[in-house]
Amino acid sequence: MQHQPTASHFIDGAYIEDAAGEAFDVVYPATGEVIARLHAATPAIIDKALDAAKRAQKEWAAMTGTERGRVLRRAADIMRERNHDLSVLETYDTGKPYQETSVADATSGADALEYFGGLAGSLTGEHIQLGDDFVYTRREPLGVCVGIGAWNYPTQIACWKGAPALACGNAMVFKPSENTPLCALKVAEILMEAGAPAGTYNVVQGLGAVGAALVTDPRVNKVSLTGSVPTGKKVYAAAAEGMRHVTMELGGKSPLVIFDDADLENAVSGAILANFYSTGQVCSNGTRVFVQSGIKEAFLKRLSERLADVKMGDPLDPEVNFGPMVSERQRDIVEGYIAKGVEEGARLVTGGKRVDGDGFFIEATVFADVTDDMTIAREEIFGPVLSVLDFETEEDVLARANATEFGLAAGVFTADLTRAHRMVAGFEAGTCYINTYNLAPVEAPFGGMKMSGVGRENSKAAIEHYSQLKGVYVGMGDVEAPF
Ligand code: NAD
Repeated sequence: MQHQPTASHFIDGAYIEDAAGEAFDVVYPATGEVIARLHAATPAIIDKALDAAKRAQKEWAAMTGTERGRVLRRAADIMRERNHDLSVLETYDTGKPYQETSVADATSGADALEYFGGLAGSLTGEHIQLGDDFVYTRREPLGVCVGIGAWNYPTQIACWKGAPALACGNAMVFKPSENTPLCALKVAEILMEAGAPAGTYNVVQGLGAVGAALVTDPRVNKVSLTGSVPTGKKVYAAAAEGMRHVTMELGGKSPLVIFDDADLENAVSGAILANFYSTGQVCSNGTRVFVQSGIKEAFLKRLSERLADVKMGDPLDPEVNFGPMVSERQRDIVEGYIAKGVEEGARLVTGGKRVDGDGFFIEATVFADVTDDMTIAREEIFGPVLSVLDFETEEDVLARANATEFGLAAGVFTADLTRAHRMVAGFEAGTCYINTYNLAPVEAPFGGMKMSGVGRENSKAAIEHYSQLKGVYVGMGDVEAPF
């Protein structure tokens, strides 16, 4: 098979197979072809991975931060050198066009490795003087961290979790999504090649049951999940049993608010980035596009014109900018939502149809006249479906933007500076945008409020979620006791 890896899992510095595990196929979404067949981790494989991580973590944490950082930065360099091959693999794993993967996946993974590699040497505790006595704090690793990934950004997620975990002196066992299991294996290979000790970054494959087994294992100190809200609830609850640290990067139904005074072309570009990049399979997508009445018709007209430039097709063709959905199942889900939108009275402006053939293609779809109570305005679709909702006043739109259980992202396009800042202060969302959308540089914190998650990835904030403080009180004089 075209992309069959050496073996399903990567543990303790080497590929390993256990054919007793349930077999599952990796399908190229653009053609429906099976490109690899892997085995889910058996209890023996899970055990081996956690043992290796537990052992390696001690050795890794004993190195200086600068030494650990050097390994991560070397891994970043290797990743950039191999960007082409990694991007092709990412395209096979996900179906996302090479035009995107070549600039957004291994490159973003490399950014995380470089950024956290740079921080590793500067992680310190502090000194607190108390008269002659004093307290110092030690910033210590958590131990063994489990990472569980979604299927939309397999390389990026593997690095966004692995890089800060390793920078802080933890070891990681990563379970990719069963839909996109190939890329994380390359991340593990690269880290080992860069000099990470065997066992510091391990990859085990499987479906939800493998993830669940990892989350409750006593050897595990932290769980970081990227996935849907229903999975997040289960994983958070299971992790709580063992009082484990968690990071939850979950789903969203984010608002993008466009005021009459916005620059039309930029607002349309923002809405495109907020809905159609990665064929709409982005957690932070601004899928509820609130457009003020004065600009609505111009916005819809220009959006339709711009959508004529969608080039759907072979994702490996560098001219193609719109790929298939990740799986047949996901396409069926999106089709179901489109049908519901029509049934509940939304106006289909463009798109809405699947494309004949073996790949899981579906058109970029725009609905107008969407109201807050419609299913397409309330539930996360995770596909290329943009809903335009009308509004008149700032006060009204802010209340409606926040009227959702989710709180991942939010954006506003306006020329009014004070209104822009007022809006973001009012948004109940962890990641906000003014006059742009969906950028996620490693230097900035990323994560959700409300049901969209707990904790933050990227930026210095991630260090807090992969380390813990120990306070040490040092007595310098005699000890006073009551008797
Ligand atoms: P999912 O929740 O179905 O699966 C996510 C991962 O969890 C998979 O690896 C899966 O095998 C695993 N899993 C499932 N059940 C489990 C259990 N009981 N215990 C442990 N692990 C379990 O999500 P998906 O369909 O792969 O991804 C799409 C979702 O991810 C969307 O909701 C999207 O918004 C979200 N997402 C969020 C972010 C973010 O950073 N906030 C980024 C990307 C995707």
